[in-house]
Order: sequence, then structure tokens, then C-alpha cells
Amino acid sequence: MPDAESDRSGLERVWHDLGVLGLDFSLDTSPPELAQLNVGTTGGLLSVAGRRLGLIGAELLASADDQATMLADQTQDLVNEELGPAGVTWPSCPRHPHHPMVVVSTGEAGETAWWACPADQAIQVPIGQLVHQPFP
Ligand SMILES: [Zn+2]
Repeated sequence: MPDAESDRSGLERVWHDLGVLGLDFSLDTSPPELAQLNVGTTGGLLSVAGRRLGLIGAELLASADDQATMLADQTQDLVNEELGPAGVTWPSCPRHPHHPMVVVSTGEAGETAWWACPADQAIQVPIGQLVHQPFP
């Protein structure tokens, strides 16, 4: 029986997790650049406060967990590359705030995509379940 988490799309999960930063993110799901993405892709052009960060995308046919893994990985790269110099670490590790967590997937059907501490994989949060993390 599917739980509430598996009913949420990968994009919804990543969007929830971006929300913990409290920044003004937006996603244009039909930008001209979407032609760069393959047909059958979910995603779009990610911006923050009107500043374009880049395209994120995952195959529509992929499972929600796989979509979450792909989109979280791409979004993390964009956010930390573009906003890192301003002091953003996303998502910061709950135990070690100086480093970001990394995307891990258990890889088995029906299991979940996670954020994990790179130093201690016992510290994990499912993608889509981050808690509020104020902007410094
Ligand atoms: Zn850590």
C-alpha cells in the first residue's frame, strides 16, 4: 500500500525541501530552453528572486523516487554553486552545519531517496522531508 510519500512526485519533494531555505524560488515549466530537455521530461527553469539558476529535469517515466534523486542532485548543484558564495549550504547537515548532505538512493523499487551526511550515513532525511533551516 503506497504511503503519503510515494504519492508525491519527485518535483514536489524537491520543491518542499527548497522551501526550508525561505528564499523566493520559482520554476518556469515552459521556458524556451526546455527544448534542450528531452520530450517526456518533468522540470523546468529554476530561478531565485528572479535570478536564473538553470534547468532541472527528470524523466516522466521514472519512478517518483528516481525523479526525486535526479532533481535533488541537479538542484543541489545549481543552488550551492550559485548561492554558496552568499552563505547558502543546501541542504545543510543537521549534525554538521558546515557541510551539505548528499543525495543517496537505496536503489530498490519502492524504497526512498534520501539526503545523507557524507561523514555518517546514519544521518539521513528522506528527500521531501527536510525541516526549516533559516537562511544565515
Ligand atoms: Zn554531516
